[in-house]
Parts: sequence; structure tokens; C-alpha cells
Amino acid sequence: MTSTLSPTTKLYLDGAWTAGGAGTFTALNPATGEALAEIAAADAHDVDRAVEAATRALRGDWAATPPSAKGALLHALADLVERDTAHLAALEAQEMGVPLGIAQALFVPNLVASLRYYAGWADKINGELLATDGYFGAPTHSYTRREPIGVIAAIVPWNAPLMILGWKLAPALATGNTVIVKPAEDASLSILHLARLIEEAGFPAGTVSVLPGPGEVTGEALVLHPGVHKISFTGSTEVGRRILRNSATNFTRTTLELGGKSPQIVFADADLPSAVQGAAMGLFTNQGQVCAAGTRILAHRSVVDAVLDGLQQAARAQVLGDPMEAGTTMGPLVNAAQRERVLGYVRRGRDEGATLVTGGTAPDGPGHFVAPTVFAGTNDMAIAREEIFGPVGTVIPFDDDAEAIAIANDSSYGLAATVWTADVRRAHAVAAALQAGAVGVNGWSPLGPQLPWGGVKASGIGRELGYEGILANTESKTVTVVL
Ligand code: NAD
Repeated sequence: MTSTLSPTTKLYLDGAWTAGGAGTFTALNPATGEALAEIAAADAHDVDRAVEAATRALRGDWAATPPSAKGALLHALADLVERDTAHLAALEAQEMGVPLGIAQALFVPNLVASLRYYAGWADKINGELLATDGYFGAPTHSYTRREPIGVIAAIVPWNAPLMILGWKLAPALATGNTVIVKPAEDASLSILHLARLIEEAGFPAGTVSVLPGPGEVTGEALVLHPGVHKISFTGSTEVGRRILRNSATNFTRTTLELGGKSPQIVFADADLPSAVQGAAMGLFTNQGQVCAAGTRILAHRSVVDAVLDGLQQAARAQVLGDPMEAGTTMGPLVNAAQRERVLGYVRRGRDEGATLVTGGTAPDGPGHFVAPTVFAGTNDMAIAREEIFGPVGTVIPFDDDAEAIAIANDSSYGLAATVWTADVRRAHAVAAALQAGAVGVNGWSPLGPQLPWGGVKASGIGRELGYEGILANTESKTVTVVL
């Protein structure tokens, strides 16, 4: 085991570290194939115990913690995360392959930002005073209360574990819920270290439990548990659909943040160097393993060659290597299956007649690397329709604004979109016409705790972050007093 790794690989359950009923599984380094740690896996019995503990905290110690003290605890946790940034970032780089610099500069700070943003909300969760026509002639005093939903299961993917968990954990705790976290099989270590920090910050036992384990065992048991009141899920559209069906069993609330096939539209009037640089960032960041990856680059026909040239250069400038090494800009894909899947799409792209402009290869070596890949193609090809979750983009030409919008919206997904233009009227008009949960103009996928995030169509249901994150973590109760 590498010295930077957390010794904590047990379940964090009811404020204690315990073995899991489903044995253990091995965390592997995708750059080297090296075994990093054996991690305890939770079974249905562990889930029962975590729900019991979360329910106790929900009605007991966490409910009794005053709102401003909840905020102070979230700030204390943010301080500890800041203190341990280097360690947390190293765990993510080693376990899921993100370049260390990105984990350090983006993923961990984003968690800190979410914790601090919602720390500020904790004592500002207010209902509304409602004017009414009275009750059989008597006046009323009517108002809403925003109450915690209850026990929330936060089910997290592997591609940005701490960042995405922050979007769930921070608003859920600020609004008085208790949380059971289910990390992804390929990325549990940074979240287990976060559990240590939650313990160190002094959150009451049971307020947060962390249960690693297989999705079909631990995740499924959480989703079907009658004591879980909400599932906050981020992951694939396929698993999201299953969770939505399962949530019908107990009418469990759900927020689903799912896959995407996001367009980046480069208009002829765009500042081309920054559009190309931004488009490349949208395509290659985290090896393209980003839900909002801008994998369909729609370029006005007059600039399509320049965009292809620019992306080719950007692809060649990528430095593939061990994510722990300074200078690496692209690490490996998360596991062997993911690499095979991505290479399968490269073959399909070629078979369907797309022109391979650059990449498409898998460098030799032990890690699961795929070279940054750009195709010139059309929107009906599988490489433009299906989520690949790897560094593969397709450049598609268009002739006018209406066609750009039509191509962008011709997708089963609707997570994010980017518009590159110097014309402010065009920017707003196109942003309004796009079927997406978030649109960036002249910047790929701006993220921040203040900005609601989520998708339309097969990209999901509901929103996280911003004030919408408060609404998504509370139930509204209407109280009417007849005076
Ligand atoms: P995944 O759907 O395979 O797994 C996500 C989580 O769900 C994991 O923790 C997994 O163990 C768990 N899970 C699996 N089966 C389950 C079941 N039957 N019941 C309950 N839980 C179960 O996704 P992944 O491969 O980890 O992540 C990649 C996917 O996540 C991509 O599709 C990507 O677009 C999506 N994603 C979306 C967003 C967003 O904000 N919309 C952000 C990041 C990633």
C-alpha cells in the first residue's frame, strides 16, 4: 500500500469504523494496476444499521443541533478538507486516475466551496407567510415550514467523487437531514478519508455514515429501504432508470443526475483561439470522464477546418502519464472495461464512416490509457448519440443558427451546452432555445455552489446546488391557524 493512502478502509457506520457484511473488494490504481487497498463492503444488514443510526440522529442529536451550530460544523469540516487537500487529491489521483493538479485545484476546492456555501444557508431556511381569503369568514395565519426530508442516501459515481458528494452532502446537512453515502466501487478512498474528517469535526454519530460496496448490493438495499426518504443519485442513465423504478416501492424522493452528450457550438463570430481551447477543455478534462463533457463540437462550416486543426493540436499537446506526476494532463481511464468501451466506440466511429482526425489508439503499458481522439462526423453516428465517457469528440458542421440549435437538441440527453459567440443577442437566443439544464456562454461548464445543476430528458430529474439545492432537500409543510 502506498504511504499516502488512508489506513481507513472499513465502513463508517454510526460514528464507528466496522467491518462490512459483504466482505471486501480491492481498490486498484488504473495507471499501474497496483492494488491500493482492500475496502470493506456493506451488506443489507449494514444498511439497516446505518438507517437506524441515521434515523436516531435525525430525531435526536442532529435535530437538537441549532441551525447556526450546523453551519459551524460544516465550516469546521471545510477547514479540515482544506487542511488535507493534498492527501485527498492524491487519493483520487491514485484511485480513479484524475491528474493530481485537477484534483487539487478543482475537485477538492469545489467540495470546500459547497460546504461553505451551505454552511451559510444553515440558519436561513425559512418558510413563507401566506395571505389567504380566510376560513368560513374567520381570518387565518397561514405559513409554510421547510422541514428536512429525513434520511438521504447519497449514491456517488467514480468520476469526481468528493466534488459530487459535496453537492449532495452539504445541502442535505444544512437543511437538517442525515445522510448515508454510497461511494462508487472504483472510488471509495477519498470519501472514506472524508468520513474521518466528519468524525474529527464532531458531527453527532449517525448523522453521516459511509458504506462502500457494490451497487447491486449496497446501493440497491439503500434504494429499497423503507427508512430512506430520499435518494440523491449521480451516475449512469441506465442505473438512474432502475433507481427511479425501485423508488416507486416506497415513494422515495429522488434526484437523478445522469449522463450527457453535451454540444459545444462554435459560431463563426466566436473568438476562435479561446473557443478551441475551451472546447478542448470540455472534451479532454478528466480524460473525458465528465458528465458535462462537450463531446459534440458543432462548428459553423466557415470555421470547421480551423476548429478541427485547433482540436488536433490540443490533443497532441496532452501529456498522458501517471496522474501523480507533475506535467501529466491526462491520466488513465478508470478501469479496463471503460477503456474497452471507449475503444469500441472508436471502432464504431470508423465503421460508420467518421473521419478519424487524431488519436483512436491505446498506448502500450500497464495503465488504461486512451489517446485523445477527435472525429469529423455527423450527428446520426453512435459516437455523436451515445455517452462514451472517454476522451473522444465528434466535430459536426452546421450552416446557420437554426441548424445548430436543431442538431444540439437532437439528442436523448440534455445536461449541459456551451455556446461560443461574440454576439450577445445570439448568445441569449441560443441559450434560451437549447434543451439543457445548464448553458455556458464563452466558457465550458461553469460550476459553483451558487449555480443550480442538473439535466433534462435522459440527463436526469431535479436540480442540485444553489437555492434549488435547499428546495431539493426539504419538504414543504403548510400550516393554517384559524384565528
Ligand atoms: P453508475 O451508474 O455505474 O454508478 C453510480 C453509482 O451507482 C455507483 O456508486 C454504483 O455503485 C451505484 N449503483 C450501481 N447500481 C446500482 C443499483 N442498482 N442501485 C443503487 N445504486 C447502484 O455510474 P458510474 O459509472 O459510477 O459514473 C459514470 C456515469 O455518471 C456517467 O453516465 C456520467 O455521465 C454520470 N455522471 C453524471 C453527473 C451529473 O451531474 N449529471 C455527474 C457525474 C457523472
